[in-house]
Amino acid sequence: MANYKHLFFDLDRTLWDFESNSIDTFRDIFAKHQLDKIFPDFDTFINVYKRHNEELWAKYRTGEIKKDTLRTDRFLLTLKEFGVDDFDLAQKIGDDYITISPTKSRVFPHTHDVLDYLKQKGYKMHIITNGFNEVQFVKLRNCDLEKYFDNVITSENAGYQKPRKEVFHYAVSSVNAKKETCLMIGDDPDTDMLGAKNYGIDQVFFNTCKSNISFNPTYSIDCLSELRDLL
Ligand SMILES: [Mg+2]
Repeated sequence: MANYKHLFFDLDRTLWDFESNSIDTFRDIFAKHQLDKIFPDFDTFINVYKRHNEELWAKYRTGEIKKDTLRTDRFLLTLKEFGVDDFDLAQKIGDDYITISPTKSRVFPHTHDVLDYLKQKGYKMHIITNGFNEVQFVKLRNCDLEKYFDNVITSENAGYQKPRKEVFHYAVSSVNAKKETCLMIGDDPDTDMLGAKNYGIDQVFFNTCKSNISFNPTYSIDCLSELRDLL
């Protein structure tokens, strides 16, 4: 076991239960905007939205589109697929999503007790996230997670998105750490795991989405409680 001092956590789908929190948010939005008049049912709305959202995030990550376009177009395209070409409504839903979702506070099992344990053991803990500043800080506050983390590195602050090496370099140098004392804990095989590996820091793959990974990460876990055995 290497002598780790700095633990870098991803936030969405690693600590913050993105899927459950999103579904809760969309139930609020579906009712508020009476989307049952447009979509046959809630699940159809979600499935069509997810497809557009994933495609647009891929474009956002490569810099092909800007944040505002991502935020509105994922709803505009979802509405259009059901015959509603309403930019205004798409923008309202987009704004509501950004406002409501970070107020949802479901985290994965053992989040708080594992972070308490790691904090007590003296690890320096930080967040590295591709999410947006105004959303991620609200999430951390609402879930009472702020107290655990010394630094929150967002891709907006770093100027690059994970898996770019520049983000990891920005993170590691902003906490004055040596690479060999750092460990990246995340759910995404590419942005978190491959990104960290390519930059040269060890990885813990938290396989929340049962994703396939193209290489052997340093460690793999199925539950956050397993971090107690590793660290
Ligand atoms: Mg994630």
